[in-house]
Amino acid sequence: MEDKIIKCKDCGQDFVFTVGEQEFFADKGFGEPVRCKSCREIRKAQKSGGKFGKTERDW
Ligand SMILES: [Zn+2]
Repeated sequence: MEDKIIKCKDCGQDFVFTVGEQEFFADKGFGEPVRCKSCREIRKAQKSGGKFGKTERDW
């Protein structure tokens, strides 16, 4: 595996999806992230419940 460059869906900036993160995501059964870390943090901060409840991991 190698690091991937992904374009953030929210801010349009490229961000690195590292091998370590890919392994983590694969281990958890998640798909690839669509947002950079800062946009994920923003969304996490804005979230007040969410359709999937407390366990939602919004990558
Ligand atoms: Zn972003």
